[in-house]
Order: sequence, then structure tokens, then C-alpha cells
Amino acid sequence: MTPRITFSIVAPIFNEAESLPHLYQRVRKVMLEMGEPWELVLVDDGSTDGSTQAIRDLARKDRRVRPVIFARNFGHQIAITAGWDYARGEAVIIIDADLQDPPEAIPELVRKWREGFDVVYAVRAEREGEGWFKRASASLFYRVIYRITDVHIPVDTGDFRLMDRKVVDVLKTMRERHRFPRGMSAWVGFRQIGVPYKRSPRYAGVTKYPFKKMLRLALNAITSFSYFPLQVATYFGFFSAGLAILAIPVVVYLRMAGIPQFTGQATTLIAVLFLGGIQLISLGVLGEYIGRLYDEAKGRPLYIVSEAPRQ
Ligand code: UDP
Ligand code: MG
Repeated sequence: MTPRITFSIVAPIFNEAESLPHLYQRVRKVMLEMGEPWELVLVDDGSTDGSTQAIRDLARKDRRVRPVIFARNFGHQIAITAGWDYARGEAVIIIDADLQDPPEAIPELVRKWREGFDVVYAVRAEREGEGWFKRASASLFYRVIYRITDVHIPVDTGDFRLMDRKVVDVLKTMRERHRFPRGMSAWVGFRQIGVPYKRSPRYAGVTKYPFKKMLRLALNAITSFSYFPLQVATYFGFFSAGLAILAIPVVVYLRMAGIPQFTGQATTLIAVLFLGGIQLISLGVLGEYIGRLYDEAKGRPLYIVSEAPRQ
């Protein structure tokens, strides 16, 4: 029989060989002080830098480490999902492997959980060691998402959070492909609370989130929780049709009164290009949703593991 486990710490790992030993040591220290059974689920998201072997070695030394090794890189969000699937604890804590989320903040999350909260998310009160572009784009991202989505996803909140078993069990049933875990965890409801923390600089290596991946994450977040981009085309259509209707009597009047009007190629060209552009953008937006629909329809597994413990 498997022992009852109170805490599952889940860390997605993509080429974090340098940080791994420190992550393990710091988590271990914090968790030993908590004095309850715990496990560390390390999800290797197709690393190519020796992280995979480092995870295996850790698991061999310490049985509390559970390695889940992906067959290739599936992305951070999917790695978190696998963490939910394999975690056995009463509380599941998602943490970045690069030590930007300090494991020392875990006891504070646990305290709130003990008070009866089901989701305790860590809010970035301060960020250190990140460039202005990363900070500005992250800040804009959180605020846009907050404005246009139907669920209220707290701002300045990453994936670092503690979730109760009953929340994780609900999340495990949500198998959408293009996912935004922090949005999903806000969507489920239950009792949620934020705890401020100071985001540290990356321990080693560079960010695994180049601009392209950030953009994809933002698109997933928006399309998963909002129809707003689809509605923009409708609003714009009404606006330009309304403008055209208003323009008709004005043009007729100007013509009858013999007042010279703004004729000329340039005006026509601009109008055609502008509306043509808007139409193409709207088609692109439709395409984003249709592509996602197609992916869902294929119903492929979210990830493929090459090595994993029994679930
Ligand atoms: N990560 C992952 N798969 C990826 C990209 C990132 O599992 O395709 C992991 C990465 O190893 C780290 C976490 O996700 O533990 C957050 O990534 P990162 O620190 O690079 O993002 P940032 O903090 O710069 O936003
Ligand atoms: Mg990071």
C-alpha cells in the first residue's frame, strides 16, 4: 500500500541541470521542517542537457522523488498537467525548477491551506533580475487577460501555487489541449486566496520562454477563456457599416450642392486596404479558434511519457 502523502511538490523541468540539485536540496530542507510525508514530482519536459539523468539519479537516491520523463518537449503547461496527474498528495504545489519561486515560501502557502483555502496562489510582489521587456510584457499580459476573459484570473500571479486534492481532481478531468493552468485553476472556483512573495532571479541558465512561447501562451490564455477577439470583428463590422450609412446622405448632399468632394485614388486605396486588412485579421482570428477546435477534435493524448512511476 502506498503511504499517505500530504504534500506533492511538482516542478516542470526543461534543461535545468544546473538548478536541479539546488532545487532538490532546498525543497528537501523546507519539507523536512514541515515534518509530514511529501514527494517531489519532477516532470522532465524533453530536456537535452543531462537533466533527465540528473532526475533519475535523484530518484535513485531518494524515493520521495518521482520522475516523469516525457518522450519529447511538450511545453510547460503540459508538464504541469502531468504533474497534476502523477501527484498523490493531499495538497499539490507547483513550483518553477529555476528557483524563481523560492521553496521557502511553501510554509506560508500551507498555512493558508490549513486555514481552509483550497487554492493558495503566490502573487509576485517584487520581481528581481528580469529585464524591463519581460516585466513590461508580463504586466501587460496579466492586465489584458484580466480585462477580456470571463474568469477573473488574478494579476501578477504565475503557476506557483498550492491546490487542494479536490481542486486537482477537478483539474484532472479538464483535458483541453491548449491550456492555461492558472486560468483553469481560477475557473474551478472553491476558496481561493493570494499570498505575496518576492520573485527571485533565475538560479542558473536562461529563460526557457522566448518571445514566441510567451505569445503562444498569451493566445492560449485568451482563446481558452474569452470570445472577445471573435466579437471584435462584429463590433467593427457594425461600426464601419454605420459609418457607411451615415456617409451616403452626406455624399449625396455634397454632390447635389455641387461642392467638390474628396474624390481621388488615394482615399479609395486607403479605404480598401484598411477594410481588407481588418477582414484578413478577422479571418486570422477565426483561424486561431478553428485550429484549436481541430486540435481538440483529434483527441490525441496530451503528453507521452517514456518513463514514469505507476499513477
Ligand atoms: N519549462 C518547461 N517546458 C518548456 C519551457 C519551460 O517545462 O517548454 C519549465 C522550466 O524548466 C521552468 C518553468 O517551466 O521550470 C518556467 O520556465 P522559465 O523559468 O524559463 O520561464 P520564466 O520564469 O522565464 O517565465
Ligand atoms: Mg523562470
